[in-house]
Amino acid sequence: MRPIFNSFLVVCLAACGGNNEPQQDTGTGVAADSAAVEVAPPNPYAGALAFSGATLWDGTGAAVLENAVLIVRDGRIVEISSGVPPEGAQIVDLAGTWVVPGFIDAHTHVSGYWAPDDVTDTAEKIRNELALYASYGVTTVNSLGGEPAEAMAIRDAQNNPSLAHARVHVAGKVIEDKDPLAAAKTTVENILSGVDWLKIRVDDNLGTAEKMPWPAIEAVFQAANARNARVATHVFYRDDALRLLELGTDLIAHSVRDRPLDDPFVAKLLESGVCYVPTLTREVSTFVYAARPDFLDDPFFTKSAKQSEVDRVSNPQFMANMAASPTAAGYRKALAQAQENLRIVQGSGVPVAFGTDAGPPGRFPGYFEHVEFFLMKEAGLTPPEILQSATSIAAQCLGLEDVGTLTSGKWADFVVLTQNPLQDILATRSIVSVYIAGNRVAD
Ligand SMILES: [Zn+2]
Repeated sequence: MRPIFNSFLVVCLAACGGNNEPQQDTGTGVAADSAAVEVAPPNPYAGALAFSGATLWDGTGAAVLENAVLIVRDGRIVEISSGVPPEGAQIVDLAGTWVVPGFIDAHTHVSGYWAPDDVTDTAEKIRNELALYASYGVTTVNSLGGEPAEAMAIRDAQNNPSLAHARVHVAGKVIEDKDPLAAAKTTVENILSGVDWLKIRVDDNLGTAEKMPWPAIEAVFQAANARNARVATHVFYRDDALRLLELGTDLIAHSVRDRPLDDPFVAKLLESGVCYVPTLTREVSTFVYAARPDFLDDPFFTKSAKQSEVDRVSNPQFMANMAASPTAAGYRKALAQAQENLRIVQGSGVPVAFGTDAGPPGRFPGYFEHVEFFLMKEAGLTPPEILQSATSIAAQCLGLEDVGTLTSGKWADFVVLTQNPLQDILATRSIVSVYIAGNRVAD
């Protein structure tokens, strides 16, 4: 609307004689000419925001830009420079801070479970949950299955400049059918419903459940490949992951956790170009409540933790059950294996997409992403490696073209920090504010 209005204004002033006195036109043409001279060209920055003064890390791998000026219009980045912000833009002073792209979690489950208990409307619950992610700097989440139908409408509405919660992508019903025909049917139904990903589980939960049979898995790939749909796979075992790569999976959505990754596996992963999502925090959630974890008292956790869920995971009986659980003990060992394998894939040049598997009970959205940062650091990744995994690499792995870096044309989704995350990844906790499409969504 604005450009049309502006050109109308210029035409009107010129043609109408200006000076707010169109009736006084002398007919000599003088009034029209002088009015045209008086009309200043519209300021190109009018209506734009200028985020000014921060040290900006744009996610591309380029060096930081000091004293950056990020110009945002209609929710998108239109220009990046440094120095003095241009006249005409509305200035947001970020001097003394660090700005990084919003974090992208390639593996979550969005359900609405994490909304306050008094919110009952499903869509509202989902929006609440997405706002919770955003408050921790997580501005895009890839939900790999089990979302309520309302999540899809929320996804469809998110490409707009007034968005004020994390973006979401969905996988629909997790495909677990044991029968090939049923698996193919679920696959097609998911695709027709408009999911971003298909999600299958290939796991026996440490020998406690029946694994999805290979004929059913193959039926999923056949149906998916015929329709150009992407398949994300839940894996645990190295041999399963290799076979899934051969079948054409598009995302290894968990760490391989049964043994150290070997050269043939890594070669296949590299050859396929498929991204690897560690979800180290998922393992933590399976054993950490065996004793009351310290993080329950971390102010960065308590500031927004859902109390009823804190009560549930710190219930003595719940903790005793977890302490006695053999699978919990198995997953504790699996975490160490997952961290070793993360070191191997990262060192081999495999694209590692940041992901936590946050969202199910016990896996606190937003906070768990920061636990994942810590665990990636513990695995030996550098802060820039971790940050790229959580921004540009995650975006590329998910095929998201307008988030992941702070460059011209992308949505203005970013996190403002008081400390330098390139020196210590835990500085990602020093959040001053979070912006989505240029809107301040959290403090
Ligand atoms: Zn999952």
